[in-house]
Amino acid sequence: MKVFKFGGASVDSISRIRNLPAILRNYDSEKILIVISAMGKTTNALEKVVEAFYTGDIAKAVELFNQIRLNHLQIAESLSAGENNIFRQRMADFFTEVEWLLHDKPVRPYNYYYDQIVCVGELLSTSIVSNFLYKEGILNHWVDVRDIFATDDQFRAANIDWGKTSVRFSELILPLFNKTNIILTQGFIGSTDANESTTLGREGSDYSAAIFANLMEADFLTIWKDVEGVMNADPKAFPNARYIRELGYDEVIEMAFYGAQVIHPKTIKPLQNKNIPLHVKCFLDPKLPGTLIHSKHISNLPPIIVLKQNQVLIHLRSKDFSFVGEEGTAKLYKILASHHILANLIQSGAVILQVCADNIPEKIEILAIEASEIFDVEIENGLTILTIRHYQKELLENLIQGRKIVLQQWSAETVQTLMY
Ligand code: ASP
Ligand code: MG
Repeated sequence: MKVFKFGGASVDSISRIRNLPAILRNYDSEKILIVISAMGKTTNALEKVVEAFYTGDIAKAVELFNQIRLNHLQIAESLSAGENNIFRQRMADFFTEVEWLLHDKPVRPYNYYYDQIVCVGELLSTSIVSNFLYKEGILNHWVDVRDIFATDDQFRAANIDWGKTSVRFSELILPLFNKTNIILTQGFIGSTDANESTTLGREGSDYSAAIFANLMEADFLTIWKDVEGVMNADPKAFPNARYIRELGYDEVIEMAFYGAQVIHPKTIKPLQNKNIPLHVKCFLDPKLPGTLIHSKHISNLPPIIVLKQNQVLIHLRSKDFSFVGEEGTAKLYKILASHHILANLIQSGAVILQVCADNIPEKIEILAIEASEIFDVEIENGLTILTIRHYQKELLENLIQGRKIVLQQWSAETVQTLMY
């Protein structure tokens, strides 16, 4: 058994959707569970609907949603996937659910509405693809993953209830494989005990696919992307970036931690726990080898470069020049934890703590307010953080040449430079 995940880019146009049957025919007679994201930029478009709705601009919300509706209907029609009655009814139900909601006045928190509206992106894309594959002679069974993935009600960042999810998986998914080789479902979404939709966090479909791979003890998880595999740097910023053929789970976790946009950071753990290899492959050319990620520790890796712009450095000075000490440090970590603020770098000194984080204004503001109870707070904006793993001195010098360096941290494997 295998799990495949196709991201938004693999279904962002009619031609790319038409490309899917050829890929799947290479795996004839294998049992595959396929997880698919919303098409292209649909999730962003749905976020705009939520914003308009929550700020009370119902007309705009309805209009924006209508564009999304028409766009999906048109794609379904171009694929001649729209003739089936069950399919039509299913699509109509998804549309109606959102449209009804848009006519309510928001009385619950923003994140609740976000999840009820945004989840429809994956429901629509998977319905269209499932029906298209069927029409192409690839039998498959469409599943609403909200009937399988049980979560808590932390909307927009829901946590999987592994116990319930695994029971539902055994009872509802496994028997389906006796009827069909392909099960097609959504990533990124789930539901609460009260049957409210939830989402697992942006780009969460990789994680969903890894959960499925774990539950079915799959031979493989393959993530199909529009690139050849994982690279050692972002090719847009570093023209010499190259593909890495093989990586250990540990390295990928580190890369994701430092901000490389490889795969969703939560993806590796469920795979690692069951020792399931992850294959990143290119849907534009399935013959390419891609990148294999598994439990082997790979040595001799090229330098891995991650550049993150728009960083802030927060200086926290003790008010009376006393030592920051354990109390000050504990206070800082407490603030970070309670507001889910990820520190990209922390430096501690006698009377000062320095924290670098992504510039998310609401979060930085709350950190500054709470820290000001015991610190003098100063904030420096407009910084960039460069992380290099397996660094070579010469490369580092080249990359920071002419920059004003604010802070640098070295360890055996990794060097981080915060700079203007
Ligand atoms: N559609 C969601 C997003 O764009 C989830 C995903 O693609 O992984 O964030
Ligand atoms: Mg995506």
